[in-house]
Amino acid sequence: MKVNYLKEWLNELNICIRCAYCFEGCPVYKVLGWEADTARGKTVLSYGLLTGELEPSKYIAEKIYQCTFCRDCVERCSANVSVPEILAAARADLADWGFAYDSHKHMIENVKKSGNIFGDPEARAPKREGEVLVFIGCQFLARPNQTKLYLRILEKLGLKPKVKEEICCGFPFYALGFRKDLEVHKERFLKLFPEEEIITLCPTCMAYLHEGYGKKVKHITQVLVDRVPEVDLGITATYHDPCDLSRVMHITEEPREILKRIGVEVVEMENNRKTSHCCGGGGGILSTDEKLSDRIAARRIEQAKATGADLLVTPCPTCEQVLKKASKGEIQVRNISDLIWKAIKKSQTST
Ligand code: SF4
Ligand code: SF4
Repeated sequence: MKVNYLKEWLNELNICIRCAYCFEGCPVYKVLGWEADTARGKTVLSYGLLTGELEPSKYIAEKIYQCTFCRDCVERCSANVSVPEILAAARADLADWGFAYDSHKHMIENVKKSGNIFGDPEARAPKREGEVLVFIGCQFLARPNQTKLYLRILEKLGLKPKVKEEICCGFPFYALGFRKDLEVHKERFLKLFPEEEIITLCPTCMAYLHEGYGKKVKHITQVLVDRVPEVDLGITATYHDPCDLSRVMHITEEPREILKRIGVEVVEMENNRKTSHCCGGGGGILSTDEKLSDRIAARRIEQAKATGADLLVTPCPTCEQVLKKASKGEIQVRNISDLIWKAIKKSQTST
């Protein structure tokens, strides 16, 4: 079988020194426990596919797709191996060889048809003229109330958000192995968004606009951090760092600073900031291996409950949804926007 994408990664695959540091925090390995579930194991499988020593199979495809792209392995790797990029290439070759999942194909068709991953023609951006360009992203488009809340927050804090007609950022095409479709999608995206500077609500869109298009992107928490009112909400919460925000975009302090300013005491989980434990919602496993995703999320919820905090707060819509489900109501899970809005209302009533 012709290898198109993995061949670029031969050098990177050769620099893996098999040290196993990547075992330490891999959420998939923590749940499944076999060598093939680790970053090292998956790089060995990828190497085998590249050299032809391994025949592609359903089992290998399952292992290559059982990765949340959380980058914990990259953070810990002694040789700086770009594991998710290697696995994205392996997925692209596997997809070409006929091993793409039907659920992934369906998601890609949804984007082509409707512009968003849900295939929902009603999930449209609330277009408006303004001064700062905000990219909403599929996950927030499917939550129109949360989107409106963020736009109201920006307005209340003195900014004029501009929202345009939009389509998915394109990350699913990249992550799930649909490279030829990705090139077409990127052209479409760039026609709609030629601008260099964009604010995003979703951490994954932020990471992909930065890495896939080289845009100058700001996350909404970076924009709001100096603007939120100083009030005392008197809440104790723990903060979940979304992998794309902390390990890809290096944003760990702004959300915590926001929470501090609005009077939320943050009690840290055992894994936080750059060593945050993945929620289990990334890399496509939500649509192929929901049980695995649930088990990863349950581990994170245990960490959150151990803090004794009243609330688990995160800015990521996917983390929020996955952790809410895993919480089984034992700890409240909220988007940071809810607390910011509460703080704005409190500041207005106290003036
Ligand atoms: S930590 Fe990096 S170098 Fe070590 S085994 Fe894992 S991928 Fe290879
Ligand atoms: S990206 Fe995350 S889930 Fe994938 S191999 Fe690395 S640590 Fe494991």
